[in-house]
Amino acid sequence: MTETQATDATEPTRTEPTQTKQTPAEPTQTEPTPAEPTQTEVLRSLDPVTGAVVGEWPVDNADTVRAAVEQARIAAEGWRELGFAGRKKALLRWNSRLVADADEFTALIHRENGKPLEDAYLELLLALEHIDWAARNAEKALAPEKVAPGMFMANHEAVIERPPLGVVGVIGPWNYPVYTPNGSIAYALAAGNAVVFKPSEYTPAIGHYYADAFAAANPELPPGVLTVVNGYGATGAALVESGVDKIAFTGSTPTGKKIMAAAAATLTPVLLECGGKDAFIIADDADIPAAADAVAWSAMANSGQTCVGTERVYVDERVYQQFLAELQNKLQGIEPGSDERASYGPMTMPAQLDIVRSHIEDALAQGGRAVVGGPDSVRAPFIGPVVLVDTPESSRAVQEETFGPTVTVRSVAGIDEAVELANGTEFGLASTVFSRQHGMAIARRLRAGATSINAPLSFAAISALPFGGVGASGIGRIHGADGLREFTRTHSIARQRFVIPGMALLSFSRKSSTVAMIKQIVRLRHGRHA
Ligand code: NAD
Repeated sequence: MTETQATDATEPTRTEPTQTKQTPAEPTQTEPTPAEPTQTEVLRSLDPVTGAVVGEWPVDNADTVRAAVEQARIAAEGWRELGFAGRKKALLRWNSRLVADADEFTALIHRENGKPLEDAYLELLLALEHIDWAARNAEKALAPEKVAPGMFMANHEAVIERPPLGVVGVIGPWNYPVYTPNGSIAYALAAGNAVVFKPSEYTPAIGHYYADAFAAANPELPPGVLTVVNGYGATGAALVESGVDKIAFTGSTPTGKKIMAAAAATLTPVLLECGGKDAFIIADDADIPAAADAVAWSAMANSGQTCVGTERVYVDERVYQQFLAELQNKLQGIEPGSDERASYGPMTMPAQLDIVRSHIEDALAQGGRAVVGGPDSVRAPFIGPVVLVDTPESSRAVQEETFGPTVTVRSVAGIDEAVELANGTEFGLASTVFSRQHGMAIARRLRAGATSINAPLSFAAISALPFGGVGASGIGRIHGADGLREFTRTHSIARQRFVIPGMALLSFSRKSSTVAMIKQIVRLRHGRHA
């Protein structure tokens, strides 16, 4: 923290966590300020194409973050007491508010993140579906569950309860600034928690708009059920150390590791949704034009800035040439831009342009070839589609998350080789398989949190399916019943209903004759299996 910010601690400059609507500044043409976020008092978000200022917010420091968490803790009590039915009503009202304001909201998403309006609308649609699912299914997924007490505890009632944790800190990225944090926020709220949300420093206006809609839809709620704090990494780090009951983070793997290390100091549990290097397997019985269409879209949409976007393709050698020709064909006319004709938008985070360029150059230096685009496709703030072939598996373009509109394509001898290579990175987020006959069998062999068969990314749009990765892709799950349970504390309760005379095993009054009888029962029960 800088000295200026330390002084600010006595005079908080952060937006009050009252969820009052802060209108983003009208776009004005200004010189693009340096993209590198530095810890200053003001967080200024910019249109990634024009550099115009979208909005400005005071940066939250450790004190103001802690104040927000304290306020959330008070609000959490009332929110929990509303019960499933009350929370469902509030969440569904939030949805209706977001729908009513959809044009304004999607225009803001387009402006601050850069993605085309239609893509912004589809992102909002997915968030609405998840809010709805979480609201309607929380009671079923989290209601107290009676379980069998077992033979030796037959005089007990055994119940699993899943109360909320209290206050959940959510730290979000910029690439899907509504859909990704919503996967934690909607589920945490539906489970009965209050949430303090730190949006990405690249998309704070979107974060505020989303949270303000919740407050506007539910004016009777006290402030603090859903609060936004503003800032860069330091504000996120302050949230991790603020005493929240869980941190739900979506972002890069290196940041996820830092958060987990910091959370270890207080044993604060973490949910980490990190990076990916998703593979796409095409079997020789696949519908090749459909597979090419799915690769083109899942690799290039959102300018490749999709955690579950396709980055590597493994194609059976018998259909490799046909697939490559189809893919080249599908990518003709696919162009980034900022108008309504654009297939996808700019790179939201300027620093990512250099990473994407370096992956392309590394692949070419190691003997790869670009069959669509190349290094010249990087024309800030846009990157045209790039398809690389003959890229060694050890190259950065195959092993590291590129997060741009590029894809590597490799011919393989068959499914065994495809599966081995697909499983050959440290990541394990999602995957896609195209095969008419063997999709399920291939999917089961993939080390990933999710797989789509014969369609791109479809698991992400099915609210009941949990979402998350393994390995360097993260820990825990959002979405579905698992996603609700992530934000609860499992509480096991055993209640003795009656006393069985002479059977007090957990007491110093226990008799040896009782133990002798138990031994006989144990022999009968567990000793008969050869
Ligand atoms: P990032 O890791 O740079 O930042 C994510 C968030 O963490 C931001 O809000 C940032 O301010 C905050 N942060 C940074 N340092 C911090 C620290 N030390 N302590 C606490 N918070 C800190 O990621 P990004 O560039 O915003 O997002 C892109 C990444 O997110 C990609 O790797 C992508 O794959 C990943 N992602 C994953 C998923 C998923 O569901 N698995 C979804 C979307 C994006």
